[in-house]
Amino acid sequence: MATQIDYDVVIAGAGPTGLTLANHLGTLGVRVLVLEKLPALIDYPRGVGVDDEALRSFQAVGLVDAVRRHTVPNQIMRFVDRRGRVLAAIAPTAQPFGWPRRSGFIQPLVDRELAEGLKRFPHVSLQLQRSVTGFVEFDGGIRIDVQPVDAHGEPVGELRVVTARYLVGCDGGRSPVRTALGLPFDGKSESTKWLVIDIADEPIGTPNVHFVLDDEFPHVVLALPHGVLRYEFMVPAGTDDASFESDDNVRKLLARVLPAQVKPNVIRRRVYMHHARIAPTFRQGRALLAGDAAHLMPVWQGQGFNTGIRDASNLAWKLALVVKGQAGDALLDTYTQERHAHAGAMIDLSVLVGKIFVPGNPLLRVVRNVVGPWLSKLPSLRQYIAEMRFKPMPFFSEGVVAHRGTPDPKGQVGKVFMQPRVADANGKVHRLDDAIGLRFALVSWSARADAWVDAGARLILDRLGALPVVVRPDCQALDREAPQGGVVLADTEGAFKRWFDEAPGGIVILRPDRIVAAVCKPWELSDTLRELARRMQLDLSDRPATAAEPAAVTTLRAVA
Ligand SMILES: Cc1cc2nc3c(=O)[nH]c(=O)nc-3n(C[C@H](O)[C@H](O)[C@H](O)COP(=O)(O)OP(=O)(O)OC[C@H]3O[C@@H](n4cnc5c(N)ncnc54)[C@H](O)[C@@H]3O)c2cc1C
Repeated sequence: MATQIDYDVVIAGAGPTGLTLANHLGTLGVRVLVLEKLPALIDYPRGVGVDDEALRSFQAVGLVDAVRRHTVPNQIMRFVDRRGRVLAAIAPTAQPFGWPRRSGFIQPLVDRELAEGLKRFPHVSLQLQRSVTGFVEFDGGIRIDVQPVDAHGEPVGELRVVTARYLVGCDGGRSPVRTALGLPFDGKSESTKWLVIDIADEPIGTPNVHFVLDDEFPHVVLALPHGVLRYEFMVPAGTDDASFESDDNVRKLLARVLPAQVKPNVIRRRVYMHHARIAPTFRQGRALLAGDAAHLMPVWQGQGFNTGIRDASNLAWKLALVVKGQAGDALLDTYTQERHAHAGAMIDLSVLVGKIFVPGNPLLRVVRNVVGPWLSKLPSLRQYIAEMRFKPMPFFSEGVVAHRGTPDPKGQVGKVFMQPRVADANGKVHRLDDAIGLRFALVSWSARADAWVDAGARLILDRLGALPVVVRPDCQALDREAPQGGVVLADTEGAFKRWFDEAPGGIVILRPDRIVAAVCKPWELSDTLRELARRMQLDLSDRPATAAEPAAVTTLRAVA
């Protein structure tokens, strides 16, 4: 007799990665159980920088407004020397993906909004004080041991067992799921530690972030929302954590950076060590890893949280297709293929920035202090840094992408699609993703693309629940030649016209995570869809498709 499956997906860990994944899966109609061993979400100081890709992921599940309440948009990051001279500034002005490229934020408050978001889904539940202690696969599923624990993590009551199709370990850097899988976590942990101090009633009134490159006293000052100011101080080698975070030492440290008349209202403090590690694979059988469980990086580029959110967006729609029987299990292998290299690139960048901030060797220190100020005067370099062009952006040469010929890193396929504003037939302006929803889309310039698909390719579009979209200049009529079951949108910013001008075809196939799966010409469309279906192991058999439509599509919100 087949074992009963309680949930489609069980998620171990209610940090931002697990909660975002659960919100995506909930939106896609997947039955989810999130298990968290703690009695409440983590409340200590952590992430302070949220990027545009993460905000877009929250937008996809209708939570971006709630999240943005806890952000400082367009926060500038300045690297200054001990005399306060600015050596470099990260201050992007463009918003190619529809949101500020970098915003300050308070992670525990955002995590709470993500947990609150789960209450919208009757098929998603979050259970606290439940520790995942083991798991074993069986034919068709995975059996997970869940130990109820008290507020101190001590076992209470009997071990319980739940079954699921898949288990995702979003259980943080020490990931018990990764450990149980026997996966190494290669890389290194830096010997330097940092003390993070949060102060309420912001006493200096800065809206931005300053990295003070002072060999004697390197530190970071960050303005957070809700009047919180954060300081980060390096713990000198050989100092024990307890004495460094003692009241007395915290007072002394703050006295070095704040005027004497300020009596800082310290609300949190904690010592951290930085790590740069990555698991060799993010999937083994029916167990997957996401977020810090899969990769850890030093905080200097503020990308740990954001990298976990990208994992969640990449994995969610794939899991949804697989658990609904619409795609084969091998689709989940594309998760490691697509995410591993990019997470590795983020780790490398974070390590590099750490070396510039606190150079370990004296030669590097001289180069930074002497050559750095001269280099920073070069306009092209200044612009490169200001606009964050150094940030590694996803580019998938393999996975659920159909490149024409050799994958081209300068091309459009396998990259994040832009998010301009568009107008609907009623003249209401929306961000693109709000007009599409969390689903595949077949977007064409000017003319209908669906008219070009043969019967086999139409089945693929149907099984994917893809939305046909035609985009036209905003002066043209939008009520003519609408695609069947789709929409016509106006290119209010001219962004589509520019994009298609450079693209090798007038049709773009977008994935639910807004990665460009393919660009093609109308007569290439059917074959391109077949190639993507093959890569996804899409089920094109005669059986009736199960719920191809998302259970709850993001509400269409007009923007000013
Ligand atoms: C000082 C500091 C500053 C940072 N700044 C930034 C920044 O500016 N930007 C950025 O992007 N990132 C930043 N980060 C990193 C960011 O905080 C993490 O990358 C992020 O929290 C990882 O999220 P996660 O959900 O993967 O893991 P976590 O947030 O660690 O969540 C894992 C959860 O799993 C639970 N868990 C563990 N074991 C079990 C089990 N057996 N059963 C059930 N539950 C379990 C844990 O209790 C925890 O709640 C910073 C981190 C630090 C420390």
